[in-house]
Amino acid sequence: MDLSFTPAQDAFRSEARAWLSANVPREPLPSFDTAEGFEAHREWERRLADAGWAVVNWPEEYGGRGAGLIEWLIFEEEYWGSGAPGRVNQNGIFLLGPVLLEFGTPEQKARYLPKIARSDEVWCQGWSEPNSGSDLASLTSRATLDGDEWVLSGQKTWCSRGAFADWMFGIFRTEPGSERHRGLSYLLVPLDAPGVTVRPIAQLDGEAGFAEVFLDDVQVPVANTLGGRGEGWKIAMSTTGFERGVVLRSPGRFMATAARLVKLYRSRAAALPASLRDEVSRAVTDTEAYRLHTYWTVSHFLAGGEVGAETSLNKIFWSEMDQRMHRTALSVLGEEAELAGPWTDGFLFSLAGPIYAGTNEIQRNIVAERVLGLPRG
Ligand SMILES: Cc1cc2nc3c(=O)[nH]c(=O)nc-3n(C[C@H](O)[C@H](O)[C@H](O)COP(=O)(O)OP(=O)(O)OC[C@H]3O[C@@H](n4cnc5c(N)ncnc54)[C@H](O)[C@@H]3O)c2cc1C
Repeated sequence: MDLSFTPAQDAFRSEARAWLSANVPREPLPSFDTAEGFEAHREWERRLADAGWAVVNWPEEYGGRGAGLIEWLIFEEEYWGSGAPGRVNQNGIFLLGPVLLEFGTPEQKARYLPKIARSDEVWCQGWSEPNSGSDLASLTSRATLDGDEWVLSGQKTWCSRGAFADWMFGIFRTEPGSERHRGLSYLLVPLDAPGVTVRPIAQLDGEAGFAEVFLDDVQVPVANTLGGRGEGWKIAMSTTGFERGVVLRSPGRFMATAARLVKLYRSRAAALPASLRDEVSRAVTDTEAYRLHTYWTVSHFLAGGEVGAETSLNKIFWSEMDQRMHRTALSVLGEEAELAGPWTDGFLFSLAGPIYAGTNEIQRNIVAERVLGLPRG
């Protein structure tokens, strides 16, 4: 395994670092789970896009730079290391975009990808339903064909950024009488269509990070079907492994957390027990291990290798690592951890890591059955 970067990759890193250092807002933007913060983050995304940094590994015609996945990992390291804002359109950029690139028609790619790249259209994910989370194949929201239109009815929930998003990509039962993962289709739904009700889910902190989306006879053109009719499960699952392993949470994000933790620890080390030093060291070695493993995964993928169920291990690893790092930070802060601040916010969000993108219990089931070949429980 060659761990060195090419001169071109080093130059790419320098260019990204220089742009971020000149452009990242000095003050943090308001939370993107508020109306004001959402628009401020959209504006930031447009600045990124205008400078060609929003979607570096997408083809140029759709707003990217045509860079490779290694360059994307480099950019992510620089992005999070610079303290840049969170990505308000991460559902569009990291979840929908790759699926559109792989399965979209030329018309769909031309219609949607550039608007995702500039966050002119911010997307939410409409997969979960009140009675279908881990067991997604039990979903009941349906779409019935009426001429050139699908007529949608049902309810989606836990749609991150859904309170202010413009569009939703969702999975719907389109084939009457079908069961489980058969007979589902992957549909693109404008949230301003008649019959759509978006109800923000009130959080304890007063923000609206999620929404429920109710669909009452919502008409959506058949042209908004991504992939073939009835192929929704295949389309949805085709990229989840790679996303869980690489795209959803790149190493750069955790390396930035570890670097902030080291800085915090150093600022108070004299008054802290030695055991905390070990925990801080572990944060650095864990994130470096995750980084190297991710570069290996991407290199393996680029060399034509398969990336499959073993990526569930990555999801378990990064979500547990993130919690550990934040717990250590709270220990370093001591009594100050009682006060609201970036570390307490980060800690609370880290608690969600083992739940979203498929719970860690489900990931462990996948590892047991598909990686280790153990019998189904
Ligand atoms: C921060 C965050 C953001 C989210 N964003 C979105 C989004 O944008 N769009 C969207 O569609 N959804 C989103 N979700 C929802 C998420 O996908 C679901 O919460 C998740 O799939 C679990 O489903 P559930 O909450 O219904 O729990 P359940 O499926 O009811 O599970 C409850 C518990 O039982 C366990 N369990 C269930 N089945 C098994 C099994 N077979 N074996 C072992 N244990 C099992 C689970 O691990 C969990 O601990 C988000 C969730 C969070 C926390």
